[in-house]
Amino acid sequence: MGVFTATLTGNQWQRRFLSFEEDASARPWQIPYLYRNGGQPGKKVTCIAAIHGDELNGVRMLHELAAVLEGAPLRGSLCLVPVANLMGYANHSRYLPDRRDLNRMFPGLRDGSEGARLAYHLWQQFIAESDYVIDVHSGSYNRWNFPHLRGNMKENAMRAWAAKLSGVIVLNSSGVAGSLRKEAGKAGKPVFLIEAGETGRFEKKIVMQGLVLLLKLLAALDLIDAHLLEEARAFLTTAVLPETPPGYYRKAVWQRATQSGLFIPNAAPGEHVRAGQLLGTITDLFGHKRAEIFSETDGFILGMHLHPQVVPGRALFHIAYDFRELQGEGTE
Ligand SMILES: [Zn+2]
Repeated sequence: MGVFTATLTGNQWQRRFLSFEEDASARPWQIPYLYRNGGQPGKKVTCIAAIHGDELNGVRMLHELAAVLEGAPLRGSLCLVPVANLMGYANHSRYLPDRRDLNRMFPGLRDGSEGARLAYHLWQQFIAESDYVIDVHSGSYNRWNFPHLRGNMKENAMRAWAAKLSGVIVLNSSGVAGSLRKEAGKAGKPVFLIEAGETGRFEKKIVMQGLVLLLKLLAALDLIDAHLLEEARAFLTTAVLPETPPGYYRKAVWQRATQSGLFIPNAAPGEHVRAGQLLGTITDLFGHKRAEIFSETDGFILGMHLHPQVVPGRALFHIAYDFRELQGEGTE
């Protein structure tokens, strides 16, 4: 029995815990969630964050979303899971205590490893009955991501969802086996992943931009009225997103370090670049230039490596390219 079977309706959040197994001191893990059934027909949507336990911007985004929607009418049902990987979160870690990645274990196994069991419970309680899923992440390993969406744009339902989104950067990407995105997609549930900021931080601007993305995604599903988004935008003065028509980038490429040394960026996530444009330089320990990094494509910088010390092959800039508009387009 999942959370969406709750029949209590109303305009206030129910704040509850999902008990899961036990920690080493024999106390049950208590995974927090917020649930609302608006009492009107509509879709069932789950927003989930911190599947990687150190990706915290999404936690705050869901708190802000809950505050914005408090008391507001809702068509359908909405479940928010601010910290899915409570084990990793407790250790300030991306991973589970056994060093495995929860986001490779969906849909999980009832009698499997500790991570497979957690994935199973999350799946059964929140995902199995959801019509749509939003999964919030941040850049890992010294990476910073401009707030954007990732989803499998080969799916008609995903394209229909994305066609209602403007001012949003979307990258076509279906995810890897065992990830929530991939497995929920295989189960016929459209999933958008939000990538925003870096790990271990509450970045105010990122959180506000992520909140706008969440509101846009929910308004596109008709779960909330569009005017809520406009009202939110009025006070979210820091949440500026690019003016882009509905559409998506088909591909992305990593520009990598060609030499070791110290990396000095000359561009930033959120910027459009041209093929041949200087993205950054790498110096030696005397500060002398060793290499220049140029963009191999026209595109949009999604993400960037933050730590100055680099070695050959280190991924420096993640650049999306090959933009396709969705407005007025039929399904492929
Ligand atoms: Zn992640």
